[in-house]
Amino acid sequence: MSTQTLKAPRGTFDILPDSATRREEVERVAREVLEAAGYGRIETPAFEATELFSRTVGEATDIVQKEMYTFPDAGGRSLTLRPEGTAPVCRAYVEHGMHKLPAPVKLYYVSSFFRYERAQAGRYRQFWQVGAEALGSHDPAIDAESIVLAHTLLDRLGARGLRLRLASLGSPAARSEYRVELQTYLRGKSDDLSDEVRRRIELNPLRAFDSDDPGTQRVMAGAPRLLDRLTPEDADHFYEVQALLMQAGVAFEIDPTLVRGLDYYTRTLFEFTSDALGAQSGVGGGGRYDGLVAALGGPPTPGIGWAAGVERILLAADAPPSPPPALDLFVAHDAARSQAFGTLLEARRAGLRAQMETTGRSLKGQLKHAERLGARYVAIVAADGIQLKDHRAATQEPVAFGQLIERLAATP
Ligand code: ATP
Ligand code: MG
Repeated sequence: MSTQTLKAPRGTFDILPDSATRREEVERVAREVLEAAGYGRIETPAFEATELFSRTVGEATDIVQKEMYTFPDAGGRSLTLRPEGTAPVCRAYVEHGMHKLPAPVKLYYVSSFFRYERAQAGRYRQFWQVGAEALGSHDPAIDAESIVLAHTLLDRLGARGLRLRLASLGSPAARSEYRVELQTYLRGKSDDLSDEVRRRIELNPLRAFDSDDPGTQRVMAGAPRLLDRLTPEDADHFYEVQALLMQAGVAFEIDPTLVRGLDYYTRTLFEFTSDALGAQSGVGGGGRYDGLVAALGGPPTPGIGWAAGVERILLAADAPPSPPPALDLFVAHDAARSQAFGTLLEARRAGLRAQMETTGRSLKGQLKHAERLGARYVAIVAADGIQLKDHRAATQEPVAFGQLIERLAATP
């Protein structure tokens, strides 16, 4: 065996206790905000049949073309580590007949996702998302509610410099007519486009709006816009969503160039960015996907949802790591292991946060360690009894075995 030390794979990271506390905070606030709105927790498998993503996310998207971890298992099936959460949630919705539940069915998750991407700050190959999906309602109020919930979550977690961009993709029919119009326009300007955009005119012309190539950007400034091609019903729906967001006091900008890397979106589309982040400024995003459940073999069911990246939220919040909770009792001892262990068990049974010495420090070293742990009390255990030090009161007194908890309960 090679003695070279192994490292976590490129683009992945270990979550150590310091950062685990901040992540738990994200999860706790997500639970509070979303459960109060009727969302129930769902956890789907970390891998799915490859087809689930290729069929729904879209063959021409970056995710499917470049970013999926796809592998055959020993049984010869093609599996893919989930790159996103909406398709798996809709797969589960169909599989468990959730259309029979009273609508809307609201589900949320806090899970890890996998994309083969160029690893950099805020962009990883395994990352976490909080996501929320509401299935079974066309009402613009559920679009607005979904967006407000994402905003509330980001706001409560302290994400700085938030901006919300909003658009509508309309319905599939209007979108495919528009697609043809855009392709004709792009073909007419193909000399001014980047190679990548030119190559993708047939496959995914909308992505041209996302390009950072200056030539392409000049072309796109004059391109026809989907927002001007919405049907009256889609336009009404979009205006209604905007009115409700204004009512909720959530500021937004309409961005006719907003496109997102997934094919299944219809109508409402949105993205939250943070000015506190560098190049990787997207904190979360989502939209309506009225055709997705039917595409997966379920009954026609509208849906809307979003996902926000946990690492990007934490970067945008720039919160200091929270210190571990202070200890109630440190059990110090000098070779009275069994008595010390008994004292530890007694303290734990009484619901105290307690630790005992296990590394053979000198008594002085143990007291120092207890201080480092922020212990309010130290029980110095010997074979014949306990000396109890109260750090807050700066006192020390003898306590008989079996009396410790009573004594602690009696101190203010
Ligand atoms: P980006 O434009 O940054 O690639 P995206 O549009 O691919 O983002 P979504 O698929 O909408 O992202 O995922 C929602 C959120 O998940 C993003 O806003 C971001 O916060 C987070 N996210 C996406 N990809 C990654 C990644 N590779 N590493 C960390 N977070 C990510
Ligand atoms: Mg991406």
